[in-house]
Amino acid sequence: MRRTLIAGNWKMNGNQAANALLLAGLKEGIGASVVQVAVCVPAPYLFQCQAALSATAIGWGAQDLSVHAAGAYTGEVSAAMLQDFDCSHVIIGHSERRSNHGEDDATVALKVNAALAAGLTPIVCVGETLAQREAGQTQDVVSRQLDAVLGTIAVEMVGRLVVAYEPVWAIGTGKTATPEMAQAVHAILRERLSAKAPAAGAAVQILYGGSMKPDNARELLAMPDIDGGLIGGAALKAADFLAIIHAAG
Ligand code: PEP
Repeated sequence: MRRTLIAGNWKMNGNQAANALLLAGLKEGIGASVVQVAVCVPAPYLFQCQAALSATAIGWGAQDLSVHAAGAYTGEVSAAMLQDFDCSHVIIGHSERRSNHGEDDATVALKVNAALAAGLTPIVCVGETLAQREAGQTQDVVSRQLDAVLGTIAVEMVGRLVVAYEPVWAIGTGKTATPEMAQAVHAILRERLSAKAPAAGAAVQILYGGSMKPDNARELLAMPDIDGGLIGGAALKAADFLAIIHAAG
């Protein structure tokens, strides 16, 4: 049985005062939820999250990491640094990293390996653009993106992945994949994972991301291979994020 994971992606938003309110709201409202929850925040706020969330069931993590272990890489943040702040998760290969920073499949795979080696859980993002969907390439694109990672990790590592299907056209646009559209892609991703590691593949959490909100979360999360959500905009308001968590269980 896969545990539902609701992960927030704050992107480049927040400040210490606003974060304190948001984190306090989450702590107060989370109750006895059985859902696994994590917030992936800008690196400068990892310490704040560590201080605020350490005694709670809410995990925290980052939105990217370096492929390098240490050294002359100005501006980068290593896996060991994330580990130093007790991060549980790190988002890797978000479409905004792929498109704005030229991250290709090979770089994403290196980052996943760096995260795994440090004991972090990578949330590996895959997803097609609108043009790719309209050209009937969705299956090829997401399979290629996931296989690029699976081809570089040991079978025993498959169970340590989280995969997020994030159709690029649905991110921050208010357009959501229908539950059936998302489920169809999740089933393809599950098949790829299981082809590499049958038992572990069945246990990997596959999240949906792309304008998941309180009013559409329940129907998306009801699909058999949708094991949670990666939430952008709605993760910035405690009430919305909590509503999604409570819709999940
Ligand atoms: C995201 O950035 O990962 C995301 C899913 O954003 P939004 O929920 O705002 O579409």
